[in-house]
Amino acid sequence: MCEPKPKYGIKVRQLLPDVYEFWCPACNQFHYFIASGAYQWNNQLLCPTVYPAINSSFSETHYCEVFINRGRLIYTQNCSHEKSGQILDMKNLA
Ligand SMILES: [Zn+2]
Repeated sequence: MCEPKPKYGIKVRQLLPDVYEFWCPACNQFHYFIASGAYQWNNQLLCPTVYPAINSSFSETHYCEVFINRGRLIYTQNCSHEKSGQILDMKNLA
């Protein structure tokens, strides 16, 4: 859970006007979402909530589906990796 007013520790950073990225420790790389259209998010870099789940597929055998809720990563049971079904704190990017 996020502190009410954290002073540092952004969890999501902006790449392009509508594109944001975050670190996924399960896939060991950044995933991104487009903050328009299908996704809704709270515009909180320090304490992000994004909806719906973000899907990232890198091969036919590696699949990642994660919700972002108040600075935490909630992996669904659909993930092919070992973090499937787990909840993790998001990594600070700065
Ligand atoms: Zn991932």
